[in-house]
Amino acid sequence: MARLAGKTALVTAAGQGIGRASALAMAREGARVIATDINADALQALSDQGLETRVLNVRDTGAVQALAAELGAVDVLFNCAGFVANGTILDCSEDEWDFSFDLNVKAMYRMNKAFLPVMIAAGGGSIINMASVASSIIAAPNRFVYGATKAAVIGMTKALAADFIGKNIRCNAICPGTVDTPSLNDRMRASGDYEAARKAFLARQPTGKLAQAEDIAGLIVFLASDESAFVTGVAHVIDGGWSNT
Ligand code: NAD
Repeated sequence: MARLAGKTALVTAAGQGIGRASALAMAREGARVIATDINADALQALSDQGLETRVLNVRDTGAVQALAAELGAVDVLFNCAGFVANGTILDCSEDEWDFSFDLNVKAMYRMNKAFLPVMIAAGGGSIINMASVASSIIAAPNRFVYGATKAAVIGMTKALAADFIGKNIRCNAICPGTVDTPSLNDRMRASGDYEAARKAFLARQPTGKLAQAEDIAGLIVFLASDESAFVTGVAHVIDGGWSNT
């Protein structure tokens, strides 16, 4: 029996990386998946594989509200969109602070606020918010505003889980370590020395391996499914032992 049969799942930032792998994994488990991203080209490959797709910029409140009105209730909402800004507080301008908080945190407020009423009216569901182990769990050097945003995601997740537990809404955050995704490779290239950057990312992973997006998708399927019916308000660390060393 498919683990997500009969469920509808909406994923943001599904065009590549963890969002894409999770959308495909949930579809394989029988869910009706609505894969969204700001990048229409990136969605094409998913639509070729039979998933429903919608262009959605999670920074656009009107677009988020319009999609919620169009779709109505979903059983699973995976808020995956986020951006990794490098640097310390001394490198972080107010504009960069505002951008990271808008995409990484306020976009989840927009999505959750738009979809919660319809999810509650339909009897409940599972919300999964993308945080990171670089958050309130551990500090990663040179990830000042990123860590601040992902800590905020964990706080928002716990607040939401507490407020709506009586409405059959579960809300969990996931906190991955280093995942080998297109944007991670872009960041390695942007460093000017791809091999050195890859070595540095590998060095912080005690298994000597980066996670693949599919490794994270397994946790998403679990949190989306009824197997996790008793799991809410938790920041799930999936970091290959990084925070344990
Ligand atoms: P990625 O960064 O490679 O891809 C991000 C996707 O987001 C792209 O398809 C892009 O088009 C889309 N996107 C960008 N701005 C958008 C917007 N305004 N609205 C909608 N979509 C938008 O993917 P990734 O590396 O898997 O990261 C996904 C999430 O996982 C992020 O929140 C990131 O912080 C988090 N994360 C990543 C890692 C990692 O090592 N890769 C580790 C921990 C957490």
